[in-house]
Amino acid sequence: MSSPSKKITVIGAGPAGLMAAEVLAQGGAYVTVYDAMPSAGRKFLMAGRGGLNLTHSEPLSQFLARYREATPHLKAAIEAFPPQALRDWSEAQGQETFVGSSGRVFPKAFKASPLLRAWLRRLDSMGVRLVLRHRWTGWDEQGHLRFQTPDGPRVVEPRATVLALGGASWPRLGSDGAWVEILAARGVHISPLRPANSGFTVSWSDIFRDRFEGQPLKAVALTFDQHTVRGEAIITRSGIEGGAIYGLSAELREAILRDGQATLNIALRPDAAIGELTAKLSAAKRKQSFSNFLRKAANLSPVAIGLLQEAAKASGMSLASLSPADLARLIQAVPVQLNSMSPIARAISTAGGISFDELDDAFMLRRLPGVFAAGEILDWEAPTGGYLLQASFATGAAAGRGALKWLERKI
Ligand SMILES: Cc1cc2nc3c(=O)[nH]c(=O)nc-3n(C[C@H](O)[C@H](O)[C@H](O)COP(=O)(O)OP(=O)(O)OC[C@H]3O[C@@H](n4cnc5c(N)ncnc54)[C@H](O)[C@@H]3O)c2cc1C
Repeated sequence: MSSPSKKITVIGAGPAGLMAAEVLAQGGAYVTVYDAMPSAGRKFLMAGRGGLNLTHSEPLSQFLARYREATPHLKAAIEAFPPQALRDWSEAQGQETFVGSSGRVFPKAFKASPLLRAWLRRLDSMGVRLVLRHRWTGWDEQGHLRFQTPDGPRVVEPRATVLALGGASWPRLGSDGAWVEILAARGVHISPLRPANSGFTVSWSDIFRDRFEGQPLKAVALTFDQHTVRGEAIITRSGIEGGAIYGLSAELREAILRDGQATLNIALRPDAAIGELTAKLSAAKRKQSFSNFLRKAANLSPVAIGLLQEAAKASGMSLASLSPADLARLIQAVPVQLNSMSPIARAISTAGGISFDELDDAFMLRRLPGVFAAGEILDWEAPTGGYLLQASFATGAAAGRGALKWLERKI
């Protein structure tokens, strides 16, 4: 039975906030979830567009290492709600999961909408109230929560609050990072919000941009510093994005912030040895164009050949003047200079957020007793692969458990 003496406000109806609400309601709390948007879980639904990657099946130690510096801070929450628990939870909502060939875990329906619909129904049956079009704008002098609503300002006085407001990517889906100012004004330390799993800008020539915008470089290997990621990269009007780029985006972002630019090397035929390519490129060209020769001899797509031409142009050379060995070396390490990060509004996720130093083990803000935080609002980042949702769900559950314990102490 829920009890009004356990009245809790969750702000943010994304995966973290809804999971906190679920744990709280199971613990007998009287939960209201507020969200600024007209419907819940908009980013979760967007995540489902390309096939909802809920979590990953790799061993837990490997899984935890994906959170880099934040691993020690997320470990307990993820161990308490690990990938298998997330899969079981999804199955309990009628959405069976499967492991894809890359080890990523998806619901069989591949989408987020059936899962979200079932979840919202279940939360409703547990007594969780969902109040939409309520934008949280901070606290008033009495310490009550202030909301902007279509009917004017509203004040709410809960016993505890869970903030699950997300990061700052894709702001049109609801999470716009406006909370930074509110919490910073309360002395909460927030690491600057930055794009994660994002694209970068490149000064392509007009010819290359016009011809190849939107085209994928498939099965390439991208190397920066000591890190290599295989996968796909997509040429955009202003630069480059895609899964393999996202895999390196943290290292590239830090290098750009430090040095003003970063040079990425792209191996267009990562499985071919340089010697093998050199031999193929030493064959007679006959009457075919140089592009045609490259396409056949090195098995390169038009966009890959275009990229080679961009690199040659940038260093004042012509591709046709290179020796077969130099050409083979270029094919295996095409330098691409990245000038800046694409805007955070286009990033998949957000790095930075509420510093873990500000939180106790129960995810409560030390400076604001009774206020908990969960999800992408916290200072962690991870690659794509299900790690973002897993940490959002797991920290939501942890903040819910923390808030319950805190209430019990107070009653
Ligand atoms: C295109 C795309 C694809 C993705 N695909 C995947 C994937 O396949 N796998 C994966 O693991 N992750 C994926 N992600 C990331 C994942 O969706 C997020 O990490 C996750 O949604 C974060 O959950 P959250 O609850 O912390 O925040 P959010 O989902 O952002 O929810 C925050 C909520 O808070 C509300 N809010 C914000 N400010 C206020 C305010 N002031 N007042 C009231 N309400 C407010 C917002 O409206 C929003 O509903 C993807 C993201 C994008 C953009």
